[in-house]
Amino acid sequence: MQTLSETASPQARTGSADFDVIVVGAGFAGLYMLHRLRGLGFSVRVLEAASGVGGTWYWNRYPGARCDVESVEYSYQFSPELQQEWEWSERYATQPELLRYANHVADRFDLRRDIQFDLRVTAATFDEAANRWTIVTHDGARLSATYCVTATGCLSVPNEPKFKGTEMFAGPTYHTGRWPHEGVDFTGQRVGIIGTGSSAVQSVPIIAGQAEHLYVFQRTPSFVVPARNAPLSLSEQVAIKADYPALRALAKTRRNGLFCETRDVSALGVSDEERERAYRERWDRGGLCYTGTFNDLLIDSRANETAADFLRARIREVVKDPATAEALSPRTVVGGKRLCIDIGYYETFNRENVTLIDLNKAPLGEITRDGLTAGGKPYRLDSIVFAIGFDAMTGALTRIDIRGRGGARLAEKWAEGPRTYLGLSVAGFPNLFTITGPGSPSVLTNMLPTIEQHVDWVAECIGTMRERNFRRIEATQNAETAWVARVNEIAAGTLFPTCNSWYLGANIPGKPRVFMPYIGFPPYVEECNEIAASGYSGFALS
Ligand code: NAP
Repeated sequence: MQTLSETASPQARTGSADFDVIVVGAGFAGLYMLHRLRGLGFSVRVLEAASGVGGTWYWNRYPGARCDVESVEYSYQFSPELQQEWEWSERYATQPELLRYANHVADRFDLRRDIQFDLRVTAATFDEAANRWTIVTHDGARLSATYCVTATGCLSVPNEPKFKGTEMFAGPTYHTGRWPHEGVDFTGQRVGIIGTGSSAVQSVPIIAGQAEHLYVFQRTPSFVVPARNAPLSLSEQVAIKADYPALRALAKTRRNGLFCETRDVSALGVSDEERERAYRERWDRGGLCYTGTFNDLLIDSRANETAADFLRARIREVVKDPATAEALSPRTVVGGKRLCIDIGYYETFNRENVTLIDLNKAPLGEITRDGLTAGGKPYRLDSIVFAIGFDAMTGALTRIDIRGRGGARLAEKWAEGPRTYLGLSVAGFPNLFTITGPGSPSVLTNMLPTIEQHVDWVAECIGTMRERNFRRIEATQNAETAWVARVNEIAAGTLFPTCNSWYLGANIPGKPRVFMPYIGFPPYVEECNEIAASGYSGFALS
């Protein structure tokens, strides 16, 4: 076995393989975790599979990739100086700009010297006698730490294409979640894209602009709201920066952690004209705020139907061919799957060189050497793009062979669905913390403030452990069971479970159907704070 010192990159060569904390992942969560723990004087090593920082923004380089949360919100707030000095160029930041930001943060806080790149963690085992985690990487290097913190992201493991015949295809295939760094030029090509979620909604208009012909293979249409993207003017930036503390504080009172409010009005309690006006106002404003037009859109299906009707009418206004407009019109719950934010998606279907194939009417057959078949009809293709999403929320954790007390495997424990306490901790797995893990608000919120809240909580917890001379912390079985029940109970009171979304693992064949995120950021934060203040109730400390 190699030791760390034999494999370490120059920036991380310390000669030691033993740390207070090992953090897995150098995305936004891993970067801030390192900064906080280092500030508390702990020895920390971050292990990252990619060759650079940025996590999801390192990998997701498909055409048109940009964040669907406004850039002034999708940013750190832990450093007022950073918040003031960084300048966002557009309302929604592109992937390259977000990656520049992540790199800026890594440099500004001198984080790289404790990050080791190009190392994929394959196993993590808790040694009870030593009270330490042993972490093994793909090349056989072994490291150890008192605590292990996973910062592996919620949407980081691509959903593998398992279409019959994929290996037969003569041309190149691409996955939106693992796009080539050098980019792809589809000029003059016949391109097929499978999937119509957020990644496809962003990439379809751009690929259509290059390709000779683009075939969009759709299983379920998504609800799509315009981004209304625009350059951020200096005066807008100055105004936001002057008000940042108040805006950030306000966002913490919102269920989704966003600046925009959910109006405390029922969609069914207003006149038709008022309802239409309210939807129109949010539509014109653009972005994820649409689902906050009324307070019952994700609780009452009749209320939701009014929001859906409004969006379907907009599709009919834009898409000229009625059959295509109809096929693009979702019949699911608005917001039950993540809303998509577009720049010219529907307009793309008016182009001569774009064809929508409704897989419900023409089921996908198989991939062949020359393309694929759908509804028995062959489509000749030069390239295929899989925009089929991710093994969300649990995929990155269950792919690591994580073993807790008595050699228990996390993947086995989660075989019927993830079980955590607060989405942060797992019974039977002492001194392991899962940033934005299943059972926490994570993907239903603005991820950056959610990450910061988790990181702050974990840093404070580890600091308190040291202060009070404790060496081990573990969620109790009872606390975990009660938490899982609570997450499910809250979800059951909403329309979320009615959709076949990745929130439920429904996009991955064979994955147990369990609603994974906790709904409601402010009560969640309050509970985390109370638990810490009470001396970590629900945890066993020794
Ligand atoms: P996604 O939302 O899971 O969409 C995957 C698409 O592929 C769906 O249309 C799905 O259809 C289809 N699909 C999957 N398996 C298929 C199969 N076997 N046959 C045919 N179609 C299949 O994935 P995504 O678009 O990559 O987005 C995932 C999440 O990442 C988003 O919800 C969002 O949270 C995040 N994201 C954000 C941004 C942004 O910030 N703007 C951009 C991209 C992604 P079904 O619906 O029928 O399963």
